[in-house]
Amino acid sequence: KKYVYFFGKGRAEGDASMKQLLGGKGANLAEMVRLGVPVPPGFTISTEVCKYYYDHGKTYPEELKDQVLKAMKELEEATGKVFGSPENPLLVSVRSGAAVSMPGMMDTILNLGLNDETVEGMIKSTNNPRFCYDAYRRFMQMFGDVVLNIKHEYFEEELNKVKTEKGVKLDTDLDADDLKKVVERYKEVYKKAGHKFPQDPWDQLWKAIDAVFGSWMNERAIKYRELNGIKEGSLLGTAVNVVAMVFGNMGEDSGTGVAFTRDPNTGEKKYYGEYLPNAQGEDVVAGIRTPYPLTKLEEMMPDVYKQLLDIFEKLEKHYRDMQDIEFTIERGKLYLLQTRTGKRTPFAAVRIAVDMAEEGLITKEEAIMRVSPDHIETLLHPYFEPETKKNASLLAKGIAASPGAATGIIVFDPAEAERMVKEENKQVILVRPETSPEDIAGMAAAEGILTSTGGKTSHAAVVARGMGKPCIVGCEAIEVDEKAGVIRIDGKEIKEFSWLSIDGTTGEVFDGKLATVKPQGLEGPLAKILQWADEIRKLGVRTNADTPRDATVARNFGAEGIGLCRTEHMFFEEERIPVVRQMIVAKTKEQREIALEKLLPMQQEDFVGLFKAMEGYPVTIRLLDPPLHEFLPKEDEDIKALAEEMGLSYEELKATVEELHEFNPMMGHRGCRLSITYPEIAVMQTKAIIGAAIQVLKEEGKTVIPEIMIPLVGHINELKYLKKIITETADKMIEEAGVDLQYKVGTMIEIPRAALTADEIATEAEFFSFGTNDLTQMTFGFSRDDYGKFVKEYIEKGILEVDPFQKLDRTGVGQLVKMGTEKGRSTRPNLKVGICGEHGGEPSSIEFCHITGLDYVSCSPYRVPVARLAAAQAAI
Ligand code: PEP
Ligand code: MG
Repeated sequence: KKYVYFFGKGRAEGDASMKQLLGGKGANLAEMVRLGVPVPPGFTISTEVCKYYYDHGKTYPEELKDQVLKAMKELEEATGKVFGSPENPLLVSVRSGAAVSMPGMMDTILNLGLNDETVEGMIKSTNNPRFCYDAYRRFMQMFGDVVLNIKHEYFEEELNKVKTEKGVKLDTDLDADDLKKVVERYKEVYKKAGHKFPQDPWDQLWKAIDAVFGSWMNERAIKYRELNGIKEGSLLGTAVNVVAMVFGNMGEDSGTGVAFTRDPNTGEKKYYGEYLPNAQGEDVVAGIRTPYPLTKLEEMMPDVYKQLLDIFEKLEKHYRDMQDIEFTIERGKLYLLQTRTGKRTPFAAVRIAVDMAEEGLITKEEAIMRVSPDHIETLLHPYFEPETKKNASLLAKGIAASPGAATGIIVFDPAEAERMVKEENKQVILVRPETSPEDIAGMAAAEGILTSTGGKTSHAAVVARGMGKPCIVGCEAIEVDEKAGVIRIDGKEIKEFSWLSIDGTTGEVFDGKLATVKPQGLEGPLAKILQWADEIRKLGVRTNADTPRDATVARNFGAEGIGLCRTEHMFFEEERIPVVRQMIVAKTKEQREIALEKLLPMQQEDFVGLFKAMEGYPVTIRLLDPPLHEFLPKEDEDIKALAEEMGLSYEELKATVEELHEFNPMMGHRGCRLSITYPEIAVMQTKAIIGAAIQVLKEEGKTVIPEIMIPLVGHINELKYLKKIITETADKMIEEAGVDLQYKVGTMIEIPRAALTADEIATEAEFFSFGTNDLTQMTFGFSRDDYGKFVKEYIEKGILEVDPFQKLDRTGVGQLVKMGTEKGRSTRPNLKVGICGEHGGEPSSIEFCHITGLDYVSCSPYRVPVARLAAAQAAI
């Protein structure tokens, strides 16, 4: 079996397609040779050997030795040097390289092949004793550190001693004899550590190969794979690249550099990089000397610079993507040491994708696939300045509920938060165990919201997303002690009003005030890529919006209608909450009608705003669906005030509130159940919707497409009952107004029974919208407000791969969506089907909706651009 792949002298056994086998570095070195790019010759030991190594108690396949010997022979021929020769020695580097790049995680050894004899040979061929002894001592140091785990400091100590003895400060002040002395001292360091420095180059080589394969399983590398979601077993292991050394530190006509073919920060089409004359790669990485910008090379070596630019062009054209390149110049001769697809900021990712498509280098489809939904998400929200974030103190991690970075002082009381922002111009992070509708003003005033309980679909999460505010929920590690005025994390106390920073994109909570970067709007390349996405996608993209303001934001982001207006959210405003409460606690129909009478004009006015904002696109308005506990007054003062307003005694009202208490509010008296027990609510809401539609139609002559949606239906008779009330009310109004107004009555599918009987339900429902928040809750039997307590463990223990409220569970909940859609269309072939649970804005769930043949997804306004892209990606 073939384990070793040679490259050099215009011939390569591997190519770029062999990344799994040769690692990214090895595959690209081979490819560059094929392209005629100057690369120092070498060979790659395949990742299969790494797998074999671990599967067979750290031993190698029998054939390997001979294959390495043979490759070394070829390498000697290619370089005209001989490994271990005292006359003209060949030196090599030994480096790791897996299929996925893991920068800095694994081991590298340079100058291998040096010993007491070969160093003399090297001096003969270079005529530079100082340089050769410096290479020798560097090799000893690296080999000791990497292969034998001898502490780096021991070598540094000896080096420093020699400098002190000579009375100099810099390495460069040491001459050949000094460095020779250093080499002798290093041998002592080896001895003290219980080792002997191996003089035999073959011995050195095999030990180095062992070390590189061994580093695949070092802690750093394992952690890196874990953090970057690289699954154990998805890669065979690392390859080992043995490459002839070239030296960038052979004088002023030598040097080393790194370059990107485009600016990785802005995406601008201009070469970007750094160059350090008379240096080796490690000197650039170590940051001891400050490199020049790449353009400096043009002054120093114009011919080499030109050659380099030609290579940039060639590589970018060939790989059809921005390249990240390492090169070395040895005495005026250029060598490429590596090329790979360059990492880039989200901003650059979008710009490069669009530019390359416009340059004709890639197709529009490829451009769309190269931008990730996360990129768009980041670009639309503020984020922490990456350097600051790296050094910040991480306090805890919660559920990332609404993206973006926010920083402010900790405030517990929403009213206080609102006041401090308005009157004192403070920046505030609202920190609470959970939030409820009366906190809305405080939430709106805050920069961000952090709760210690709740999940992705809890009140705080849903509302924050709607507002486009960073929010973390279910951060169980944080204990909020309002009385003591502190939060406690891991035994650490942080006082109210001290600075806190939260990253709603990742769920991270940081101590102190981190610098944030402002987002850009939907313009430039971002607008362009989304425009291309719109041409390609099959799914419609609507928004979940409850206020004209949110609706306008969503329209500007490209929403094609409203897929869900949660009418109960329209009552979150301060002056409306008491009226809603009146309606909820009303004992009699008369009492309720008094409250409804007050609510009607408020709602109608909002609906007018929504219809106008949506400019003729459909607007799906859902009948009231309030989980009662979110609306019931909790504080005594609120109960008193409400009692007074309603002419009741405090005791009477308190008793009613207690009566209305539910043990399981999310499965309680909400949704259609409420309007079925109190039909006057459905009547009022229909009046407000149809009244608003007639008004907009008359005033502006614009098309209005109201879709009235009934929530939490599980049985066709629930739908029948309410539909009758709605159509009677609506038809009468339309007839009286003498207008031509089309409207639809449809239902949410969010109870498993509704999905199971969708064929029956579709005989009444004119459209479906999957409420996958409740559908997930009821299919799993996980309370959407309480599952945060255990979901983390479920994921850690591998019971669930991801939070099912975040990413639609295709095998379970997804089957209900599929079945519901198919059954529904079996009795009503042109049935419009959408999704409006939080999954409607999540890329993998969007892909599932595309595959399942839904007509549209609906998501919060700030996710609309993400959904447009994800829908296009699903269609490619
Ligand atoms: C749902 O259940 O998925 C839904 C959209 O409704 P809500 O979150 O308001 O219950
Ligand atoms: Mg629901």
